[in-house]
Parts: sequence; C-alpha cells; structure tokens
Amino acid sequence: MSNNTHKAATKFIHAGTVPDPSTGAIMTPIYQTSTYVQAAPGVNQGYEYARSQNPTRKALEDAFAIIENAKYGLAFSSGVAATDAVIKLLNPGDEVICANDMYGGTYRLFTKIFEKYGIKFIYVDTTNVKNIEAAVSANTKLIWIETPTNPLMNITDIEAVSHISKAAGAWLCVDNTFASPYLQNPLNLGADIVMHSATKYLGGHSDVIQGALMMNDDSLREQLYFIQKSCGAVPGPMDCFLVLRGIKTLAVRMKQHCENGQIIANFLRNNVKVEKVYWCGFEDNVGYTIAKKQMKDFGGMISFTLKDDSIEAATKVLTTTKLFALAESLGGVESLINHPASMTHASIPREKRIANGLADGLIRLSVGIEDAEDLVEDLRVAIG
Ligand SMILES: *Cc1c(COP(=O)(O)O)cnc(C)c1O
Repeated sequence: MSNNTHKAATKFIHAGTVPDPSTGAIMTPIYQTSTYVQAAPGVNQGYEYARSQNPTRKALEDAFAIIENAKYGLAFSSGVAATDAVIKLLNPGDEVICANDMYGGTYRLFTKIFEKYGIKFIYVDTTNVKNIEAAVSANTKLIWIETPTNPLMNITDIEAVSHISKAAGAWLCVDNTFASPYLQNPLNLGADIVMHSATKYLGGHSDVIQGALMMNDDSLREQLYFIQKSCGAVPGPMDCFLVLRGIKTLAVRMKQHCENGQIIANFLRNNVKVEKVYWCGFEDNVGYTIAKKQMKDFGGMISFTLKDDSIEAATKVLTTTKLFALAESLGGVESLINHPASMTHASIPREKRIANGLADGLIRLSVGIEDAEDLVEDLRVAIG
C-alpha cells in the first residue's frame, strides 16, 4: 500500500490496493454483491449493505484519497452525481459563487435542478479573483471553480481563491477533472473539496462513468458520506475496479498527454488557417504564470478556432479527422474531437456562451497518447 510520502507514479500504482485478505489476490476483486451475511444481528465485518459499503469501492476510495493527498475519498456513479452531493450540503437561501465558464452539465445541474430549491448561484469570471471577492455575501457557503476551464482553458488561482473562501467562512470546491491529480492538487493549495469526473483521466480508457470527491475535514467527510449513502448515487464494483486499474497508469498516460498536447498546440498555432489556440502552456497566455505555479505541466486539452469562423468550416474539420473521433468526453487514451457549442455545452444558452467567449466555431481536442506525428498529420489533412 502506498502512502503520502511516495512520488506520484508510485502512489498511483499502489494507491488503495492491498492483497485481498481471503486469497492474497494482488488485484482488488470485484465484490459483486448487494449484501453481507451477519454472524448475529449487528455483528458484521464492517459491511452491511452495498449502497453503504463495498470492498472494491473502499479500495478505490482509499486510492482517491491518496492520489489527491487527501484524508478521505468518496466515489459516485458519475461526475455530476459527485457535484450533486456537494450542492446537497447547502440549504435554501445559501449562495454559491461559481465560474461563468465551466462544464455545461455543472451549469445545467445548478440552474435547472438546484435553483428551484432556493439555492442561489452567482456566476463570475473567476480568472480575476477580485470578481469573487466582490460577490461574497453573508450567505456565501460555497465557491465552485474549475481550472483549467472547459473548453477555454482559463486559469484561476486556487490559492488566492482559498484565502477568499476561508475569510468568507465558505467551502472551496475545485473541479480538477481537466488537470487530473498528476498535474494539480487543489487541497494542497487550500481547497476544501476536490471533485473529479473519474470518467475522464482517472478511468482513462473511455469505458466507465464515475465521479470522485476528496477532502481532509472529518465533518465534511461525514456529511458527504451521509449524502452518498442516503441519496444512493454509488458506482457498482465493476466500475470501481476499472477506475482503480486506470489510476495505476495515470502518471505514464499524463506524461504522454502533456508531450503530445504541446506538439499539437504548437502545430495549430503555426497553421495559417487557425485563428486562435487555447492551451494553458503558451507563455503569452493571461493565466500562464498561475498555471506554471499550480500545475506540474499543461496537459492535452486544447481548443481552437479557424480563421473561417463559419460552422461549415468547423464541421469540415470535425467530420474529416480519422484518428480524432468526433465524440463528447475527454481524457481517454484515444484522441477525441468535439464541437462544444452543439455538443458538450449545448445546455448553455447561445448569448451566454458567446458572451463568455465560446464561439460557434470553437473546436475542442482531447489529445490522446497515440504517436504525435500521426495526430499532427490527421489534423493537417482535416484543416486542409
Ligand atoms: C465530464 C465532466 C463532468 C461531469 O462528469 P460525468 O462523469 O460526465 O458525470 C464535470 N466536470 C468536467 C470538467 C467534466 O469534463
């Protein structure tokens, strides 16, 4: 079993897994069971009913904690289920300050589901932390940020926001999906909760939907565990096994995502048909200094627009690539290409999208770990 003193690559491989006590199996078995036999009423081995506890999920939750340098991890049936659990910490009248440029499904959950329960969401440009400070009120209970953001790769200073949240007596939750725990660890920078769509880099193979929360505070863990078992959005043991297995190769995958990402970002920037490239590793980016400070490297998520800003021109690229598959999602070993305006961010109204800088023609890439030369060639042909 790993501990918090090991380096990332070691931690990712050993996190959470101990030889199975009954057989010595090195890989955590898939405990496909709904319940556990008790020796006498209330006399059990720490497992009563699988919505509350499952050994495969326990191994994964221990791994979640270790990979984010956290005390606790909790697994959910999806990333949005993890987000849903965080918002259920709140009461009617409470206010959440959140980014105006974030995952479309998070925006939909906030506006379409939780607003009607009397929770107020205030959207600001979090890249300038003064906007957050100005939005704080006595009712602020949570600050929710994503960095880098999806799909414009905007950077928010996690440590600076954590000072504001602490002064306001509010929790800070960071959606760390885009960076992954290999590149960024928000709890070390003062955040209270880290959220991941484990569907993406943690799973890493586009074969599972899952969410994660990591935290250090005992009371926060108690409250979130209570929500997890009471609301029941838990992942099944097979899905837990898949994510546990995915995490083992996170370090090697992320290194390759970063290397390929840099090559593709530079290729796009030098392509005459490309107007603007959004990637957090460019030194002339507004958020570069902060990205450099809080991230180990810059990842494989890139967005770009063409000089021809028509939907038709974007559609041609989106339908011509052969290696970059046209699909939602990200973070798998295979490269994906996506059209945020009509796919991942279709739930955000057009005026709001455009106002936030998300153009109709924006194309988003999740650069996989194939050979970078093949990926460049695929894009070169598609951009034409
Ligand atoms: C995918 C994603 C989510 C939602 O996660 P699901 O596993 O799809 O429910 C949340 N935030 C970000 C940044 C994402 O990319």
